[in-house]
Amino acid sequence: MINRKSREEIKLMRHAGGVVALVHQAMKSAVKPGISTLELDEIAARVIKENKCTPTFLGYNGFPGCICTSINEEVVHGIPSKDRILKEGDIVSIDVGATYRGLVGDSAWTYPVGKISKEYEDLLKITELALFNGISKMREGNVLDDISGAVEDTALGRAENIPAELKNPDGTGKKYGIVRQYGGHGVGRNMHEDPFLFNYRVNNKTKLKNGYVIAIEPMINLGVDEVVVSTADDWCVSTVDNKASAHFEHTVAATEDGPLILTALE
Ligand code: MG
Ligand code: MG
Repeated sequence: MINRKSREEIKLMRHAGGVVALVHQAMKSAVKPGISTLELDEIAARVIKENKCTPTFLGYNGFPGCICTSINEEVVHGIPSKDRILKEGDIVSIDVGATYRGLVGDSAWTYPVGKISKEYEDLLKITELALFNGISKMREGNVLDDISGAVEDTALGRAENIPAELKNPDGTGKKYGIVRQYGGHGVGRNMHEDPFLFNYRVNNKTKLKNGYVIAIEPMINLGVDEVVVSTADDWCVSTVDNKASAHFEHTVAATEDGPLILTALE
């Protein structure tokens, strides 16, 4: 069952999401060659606590960090560690949740570490565009598949607003891999609520209503779709071909005024 959030709940989620945005602001300036992912986790923990929120991820199904830090071919759920040091040319996906008075904001972003390759730059641009194309469909009267389809079309090079510089010489868009086993989700009093949102069309005709809040989160790969969970820690998800992956996520409410991003700076 999909919960509709009240105005008051959306206001509280906007506050939680604003703190998540502050964490991302801190991450953006902290991500540099030489920093460990554990140091990033410590910075995130401080920002969350200073703003009177609790870190949603910490202890969630036993997760040991306040953020997920997934480097290059890692897709999601990377565990912060003092031994994982970022290097020039890496990309790192940072996913963070904050809870304020029982309500959750959830957002992820992939950051370049120093100077990155053109191939990685394009992957980040396309995944961010896939997120915003998905967000534009978060309106009452649309169906869930409209969001999924907007993400899919962007990843497969079919969206109309793909910039010319990201296209092949023949004018077609590049095709990227789309992670299948993970996707977006309803969010509110729990981090993961109904509905599950695929990042590709599944013919889901569930109608969106004002008051629905969904974390829209494309995970797009340079290579194949397939991913695998680490047998070493049972958490970290990586691409099977070891090619890089990007992850951009916002918590978004459908409102009378259209899509409202709750995890932007207030
Ligand atoms: Mg997230
Ligand atoms: Mg999420």
